[in-house]
Amino acid sequence: MSDMNGPESGGALDAAFFTRWLTAAAAAVDREADRLTELDSAIGDADHGANLKRGFAAVRDVLDKEPPPTPGAVLITAGRQLISTVGGASGPLYGTLLRRTGKELGESATVTREELAAALSAGVAAVSRLGGAQAGDKTMLDALFPAAEALGESFDAARDAAERGALATVPLQARKGRASYLGERSIGHQDPGATSSALLIAALAEVATG
Ligand code: ADP
Ligand code: MG
Repeated sequence: MSDMNGPESGGALDAAFFTRWLTAAAAAVDREADRLTELDSAIGDADHGANLKRGFAAVRDVLDKEPPPTPGAVLITAGRQLISTVGGASGPLYGTLLRRTGKELGESATVTREELAAALSAGVAAVSRLGGAQAGDKTMLDALFPAAEALGESFDAARDAAERGALATVPLQARKGRASYLGERSIGHQDPGATSSALLIAALAEVATG
């Protein structure tokens, strides 16, 4: 029975699963682009929606044209594409997230949710090193750190943790990125990058649980 082998019951995640994830992420970013841009207009420069829309459309196209053979290769290809197509800070940051996570997955044809959780934690740590941000600095990391940890438990737990993390950025003062220039005026707004990270993790849970 195919549902007994689904990702949630410990089944294997293959390259096609990762392509479905990023395709679903592209659709979510496309659908929510105006909202992401609105959030970025409050505490940034109003380009986050357009940045990610362009980047994930390019990811979808490259995966469609030349499907990579392994989960690791899918993420590395996608990360490279984000770095080369997204101009804002989020391009190199999300690109690093996917590339580093992909490298951690190695050459395996299939991986488990637990292996993905460990690889994602390494990817999130690489984002933190690259941007110099920590938990509580009001960035994408406030959704990604809790999501990577909760993914060890389940896909749904990861989605809920990312969503909670994004909402929890509202009362924070930004200490990294463009929003930090606003100082205390960044308080009271949800971080755009944490919001898009929650979308990416929701897309993962959606694809995993059908
Ligand atoms: P830009 O700020 O260059 O216009 P975007 O608008 O695409 O880029 O992305 C802004 C988002 O990037 C922020 O909401 C924040 O979540 C994230 N971000 C910015 N700087 C950092 C950083 N140093 N570390 C982690 N995330 C960051
Ligand atoms: Mg911006």
